[in-house]
Amino acid sequence: MDCLFCKIINGEIPSAKVYEDEYVYAFKDIAPIAPIHYLIIPKTHISGANEITEENSALVAKVFEAAAKIAKAENIENGFRIITNCGDDAGQTVKHLHFHLLAGVKMGWGPESVNAAE
Ligand code: AMP
Ligand code: ZN
Repeated sequence: MDCLFCKIINGEIPSAKVYEDEYVYAFKDIAPIAPIHYLIIPKTHISGANEITEENSALVAKVFEAAAKIAKAENIENGFRIITNCGDDAGQTVKHLHFHLLAGVKMGWGPESVNAAE
């Protein structure tokens, strides 16, 4: 399967790893939008949040377990935000379920924090 993040998981494409366990891989986003911007992904290919099912949803819990571990290990003390973009309106560019972990800056929240696309 021609999936960028599957290739990152199997080492075909290099990445800056920040965390790995049996179920989950996390690495630095190549184009960070915050001082800390990691991507946390399940090792099993799921194309997006719209493909989460009763059979695979335990992997999402593993992603959030990993996020809490990463936040502790990296001393992210002031908080963090986790985002998953799903589908075209949300601007999903890589069709392998991934969660952006953003931190290191005071973030806004409200309608203005959702950028309207052109
Ligand atoms: P999304 O737009 O939500 O699908 O997020 C995809 C993210 O993957 C973007 O933030 C990209 O900067 C990031 N990205 C794309 N290619 C790579 C790569 N080779 N290594 C790390 N991050 C990447
Ligand atoms: Zn994949």
